[in-house]
Amino acid sequence: MREPLGESLPDDSDALRARLRELVERAERNETVFRKTLEREKEVLSADSLPRLLDVAVGGLRSSYGLEAVTLVLQDPQHEIRHLLLGDGWKPDSFEGVLFADSVVTLAPQMQTLVRPWLGPYVGTDHQLLFPGASGLGSVAILPLKRNDRLVGALNFGAADPLRFTPEHATDFLMHLAVIVGFALENACNRARLVRAGLTDYLTGWHNKRYFHSRLREEVARAQRHGGAVSLLMIDLDRFKEVNDASGHVGGDAAIREIAQRIESQVRSSDAAARFGGDEFAVLLPGTGTAEAHHLALRILRATSAAPVEVRPGVQRTITLSIGIAGIQPGRGDDDHKSLAEGLLAEADAALYRAKAGGRNRVEGPR
Ligand code: GH3
Ligand code: MG
Repeated sequence: MREPLGESLPDDSDALRARLRELVERAERNETVFRKTLEREKEVLSADSLPRLLDVAVGGLRSSYGLEAVTLVLQDPQHEIRHLLLGDGWKPDSFEGVLFADSVVTLAPQMQTLVRPWLGPYVGTDHQLLFPGASGLGSVAILPLKRNDRLVGALNFGAADPLRFTPEHATDFLMHLAVIVGFALENACNRARLVRAGLTDYLTGWHNKRYFHSRLREEVARAQRHGGAVSLLMIDLDRFKEVNDASGHVGGDAAIREIAQRIESQVRSSDAAARFGGDEFAVLLPGTGTAEAHHLALRILRATSAAPVEVRPGVQRTITLSIGIAGIQPGRGDDDHKSLAEGLLAEADAALYRAKAGGRNRVEGPR
């Protein structure tokens, strides 16, 4: 017997309508997520520095997707990324939600086999290292960040809603986002490395002359504005050619590195020290008058020659320095800061020349 048509149709069509509504809603939700993801990806790709990228990747995504927690874990066994941030003047721990680890695979069980995004329930024992301090999470998405097929980090989303991330959800958007973030991170690190390489001396790790010139102008301008003192030490190793001749270039390099460390041990972190090139170094002392600079120069002289330097295995050599001092006293605010900075360098150079001419292993300049 056939069922009467009129009785079953309204039920079926209601169910159909409801199903259709659900599909349309889901499509609209997907469309919204897709649009937001595209916007975020654009922002990630246009972040012009590592700090900006870290901000966009964590805070930006959290607010854009309305998530309870977003973290970015980065594998940084040599602390290189942290040094790049520090070199830019940023404290690595000032980026909320950015975590550095020697190895990311130990942070959650899913990390060991993470090829595509992993979506599922939040389990405290498994996920607390990815979301330190977060509470009330119901579901998580862990997105792998890769470089040359190696896992180098993860972008982690945490939501209070246990159904926000489930294994049934499509992961294509998230995978795409992870690839973009991974790519942008590598790019930002490379850029930061290049900038740093341009301002750092490869042999000693000190700043180079280029950095020093810009810092010198900044400090002189600051001193002019606030009426503070600035002193400058120009330091040159004595008869260094003899060290090179006797011990070869490699021995000479080792000596330059060792002497740089001995000088550095006397210098405050607020001072700016640079290798000028060859066997010449400069130390800028903001907020320091020439009398105090003179004391520091004598301390550097003593620290350097106190013990011989091993220039080759088993070969020791005592190395001495000559130091020229110059200073800007408060109140010299008339000249433009560029010519003041140049004058300061020229004065320190002249004092260094006098120290060499006077017999070396000495300090010259105003007291
Ligand atoms: P003075 O007391 O007058 O300064 O004598 P000096 O022999 O130290 O002469 P000067 O400062 O003019 O020469 C520095 C030497 O340092 C010349 C160069 O061969 C050597 N040198 C420059 N750069 C490097 C380097 O990166 N590594 C090594 N090993 N030697 C360098
Ligand atoms: Mg020299």
